Amino acid sequence: MKIFCVGRNYGEHAKELGNAVPENPVIFSKPDTALLKNNDPFYLPDFSNDVHHEIELVIKICKTGKKIEEQFANNYFNEIGLGIDFTARDLQSQLKAKGLPWELAKGFDGSAPLGNFISVNSSLVENGINFSLKKNGTIVQQGNSNEMIFSFAKIVAFVSNYFTLKVGDLIYTGTPAGVSKVSIDDKLEGFIETELMLTCEVK
Ligand code: ZN
Repeated sequence: MKIFCVGRNYGEHAKELGNAVPENPVIFSKPDTALLKNNDPFYLPDFSNDVHHEIELVIKICKTGKKIEEQFANNYFNEIGLGIDFTARDLQSQLKAKGLPWELAKGFDGSAPLGNFISVNSSLVENGINFSLKKNGTIVQQGNSNEMIFSFAKIVAFVSNYFTLKVGDLIYTGTPAGVSKVSIDDKLEGFIETELMLTCEVK
């Protein structure tokens, strides 16, 4: 099972980190040991003092595909859920400055909490999906899938040009603005529309 993530897919978030809006999707991956399921707690790693939450819609691949055409790409996922792309921002900034890969800052153990999924249909995708993150009861991030620079279909088509997609593969589709540092005892809650999909306590 593979986990892909899209960086800089919401204009306001790219801006808040001082990044240009990309011409092509920015893709990176996380190993399966990054997954955190069943609302398990997240333990802050000892190599960072600045781990940020990034709430993201996650699509689950339901069919094997390679070089998928964009017009058919929505047929390759049938569930959407919510996940957090935890990022060691201090480490990522050091790596970025040296032009090095982001894996250490993005792919560490527990860096990919994953919540529940809902079934997708084409009208849901067309109308856009609202999602949000509460930290200790206050909304800190909110977005709508229609604000994505690259649509679900574009992402699936793009990724499948390089990597064969298989059943169960996950794609974290990018985070809206509002990322910030998490601290011990923070309680994170992710919502799709008004439905609680994910809870994660920071330890
Ligand atoms: Zn992210």
